[in-house]
Amino acid sequence: MDRFDLVKESFEKKEVPAEVPKGKTSDYFGELVFDRKMMCKYLDAESLQGLLDCIEGGHALDRKTADGVARGMKDWAMKHGVTHVTHWFQPLTEGTAEKHDSLIDYDGKGGVIETFDGKMLAQQEPDASSFPNGGIRATFEARGYTAWDPTSPVFILEDTLCIPTIFISYTGEALDYKTPLKRSIKAVSDAAVPICKLFDPSVSKVYSYLGWEQEYFLVDESLYSARADLMITGRTLFGHNSSKNQQLDDHYFGSIPPRVTAFMRDLEVAGHRLGIPLKTRHNEVAPNQFELAPIYGEVNLANDQNQIVMNLMNRIARKHGFVVLLHEKPFDGINGSGKHNNWSLGTDTGTPLLAPGKDAMGNLQFVTFFVNVLAAVQKHNALMKASIASATNAHRLGANEAPPAIVSAFLGRTMTDVLRKLLEVPSETPIDIAGKKGKSLGLVEIPEIFVDNTDRNRTSPFAFTGNRFEFRAVGSSANCSGAMTTLNAAVAEQLLDFKVAVDRELASGKKTNVAIMDALKPIIKSVIDVVCFDGNGYTEEWKAEAARRGLDVETNVPKMFCEFTKPSAVEMFTRTGVYTEKELQARNEVKWETYIKKVQIESRVMVRMALNHIIPAALEYKSRLLKEVALAKEVYGNLDNCATEMKFLSDINQFVEDISVKAESMREARKAANKIENVYERALAYHEIAESFPALRRPIDKLEEVVDNKLWPLPKYRELLFIN
Ligand code: ADP
Ligand code: MG
Repeated sequence: MDRFDLVKESFEKKEVPAEVPKGKTSDYFGELVFDRKMMCKYLDAESLQGLLDCIEGGHALDRKTADGVARGMKDWAMKHGVTHVTHWFQPLTEGTAEKHDSLIDYDGKGGVIETFDGKMLAQQEPDASSFPNGGIRATFEARGYTAWDPTSPVFILEDTLCIPTIFISYTGEALDYKTPLKRSIKAVSDAAVPICKLFDPSVSKVYSYLGWEQEYFLVDESLYSARADLMITGRTLFGHNSSKNQQLDDHYFGSIPPRVTAFMRDLEVAGHRLGIPLKTRHNEVAPNQFELAPIYGEVNLANDQNQIVMNLMNRIARKHGFVVLLHEKPFDGINGSGKHNNWSLGTDTGTPLLAPGKDAMGNLQFVTFFVNVLAAVQKHNALMKASIASATNAHRLGANEAPPAIVSAFLGRTMTDVLRKLLEVPSETPIDIAGKKGKSLGLVEIPEIFVDNTDRNRTSPFAFTGNRFEFRAVGSSANCSGAMTTLNAAVAEQLLDFKVAVDRELASGKKTNVAIMDALKPIIKSVIDVVCFDGNGYTEEWKAEAARRGLDVETNVPKMFCEFTKPSAVEMFTRTGVYTEKELQARNEVKWETYIKKVQIESRVMVRMALNHIIPAALEYKSRLLKEVALAKEVYGNLDNCATEMKFLSDINQFVEDISVKAESMREARKAANKIENVYERALAYHEIAESFPALRRPIDKLEEVVDNKLWPLPKYRELLFIN
């Protein structure tokens, strides 16, 4: 089949109807998770109590409870046709890891029976030596183990019972994303509770919440399979812009093609059955780009759910003849994909901490947390950026569509005014809800409802949107934990410092509200001057201004990772108990290694495709042109009628020459980089190689415009990008 057959085939594909269970969504919502309802139904009283103590009180799971829970879980799972079990974990690779074991065992009478006990539930030792670990296991202990995280409910994927676990080394170092995230959840709670108690003594826990918005592209699988770059790297390494792409803004929120709707519907049903509260689906800005978002939830669970959804997307897309691209920048010249992380804090008494309160003290509590979050982001702005940096996200950040590679915060008019006002008025001035006492000049007021009318600024990486902050710089393929762990830890540290400052004010005999406001004022002043920025983040002026303000403007990804081992970061992460210094060092090794491998793979694919796909097509066309020219010469005796052919020939010669020189020098650069012993230095060398991609791409994209359309071997952007 040639390219045209593939295009025709993709154009003619009909929608595959979605399989939607009968009844209401609420009838089947969560049927494949072992949630509280199932626990109550399937566990004996003692096991249930033991498990709830683990979940709520953070106690370790003892063997007896584990056995009891496993018994009930097995009964439940077998009703759903489960035959296998796996510990499901999140190593430092993309995606999740699982190793399935069948439930069968010999029954001692010559047959087999299904078994599942507390030991299998609680702990396993996957052969972990091939997961990235940054040298931790090589140096210290060869094995790692996975242990059930009872705060993440067990779920069923097809025939397999999946047990969400942490993954750690025998010496206790985290080898995954979940462990540090869980530590950061505890850290921010421990640091926030004493401050909440100043407002409400009954608070005993603070939750962190995440609502992710997953952007993605769909491409037809036939066309996808005709492009080695998409298959191997998840993005197109070449491709001339389509004449029409997103300039008409006709895709954003446009009507969704039926083939895509059917895919979305199947995805939603699968998510709902797994208790994932998928809520929003829509077209995004770029052609073939879509977004999906659930109702937010506790961050550990929400992140597990994001991982599950990313996995489901790929499986379900195939049924509909699509492949999902989670890459941050699959196509040049149109928007890339991010994953906005909507983040907030709330108490176990049900009070949101990043939304206005019911009275002046409630509002003061809101402002307290609001300002401290800004202070944390300000202090660790470089680290926040490092937390979302990757080889793939680098293509998106700083492009004129996604947040710039500078972490600032957008507050909107209302909150900017409130903060400025607070600096002017005496510290005892109550922060009122607007309108309660009529129009009152000189007082500090917050509009009662402003979630829906907060301003938007798409250029800001960290924006306040009424009851939460939206961290927009996270990449679409990322595990949210990287960003969420860093944010939680930074906020925890800031809250610890803030509590010390408030206690100092209280010790001098001030009333609570005055003490808090006096401790807040210098912080407010500082965040307004430094991290808060409501302007256009895309401009050159902002880059200069940000540098002047002392915000980090680094764009080199391997260099960004160095932030994690700088003294201020080590101090912050160790004080909050989120990472040890050894873990930070090990993780950086993994990040540099991953960066190197990604760029290396892309570079290899690029060179091979240039030499094996592109140049041959160009030479074929060249040979045809040469034949025509030779024929013309024979017929007319001169080349007077061959101006166009000669021009094309000269262009082709020039582009082909350019490609072959650049491909060769890229190969040489790789060879030289591979010889560098030190992983960081090697990553820097690979960064240079990544920077040279556009130079090799340019002549290839130019050739695409010259070579006979029929001879071009790769599906073009215009063919890939418009699902009908
Ligand atoms: P938009 O595109 O306008 O930002 P969406 O509806 O696409 O909004 O996504 C917003 C996300 O933020 C949803 O997942 C939503 O549940 C989540 N969210 C709303 N309120 C909060 C909150 N207080 N904390 C965390 N996430 C929240
Ligand atoms: Mg959003």
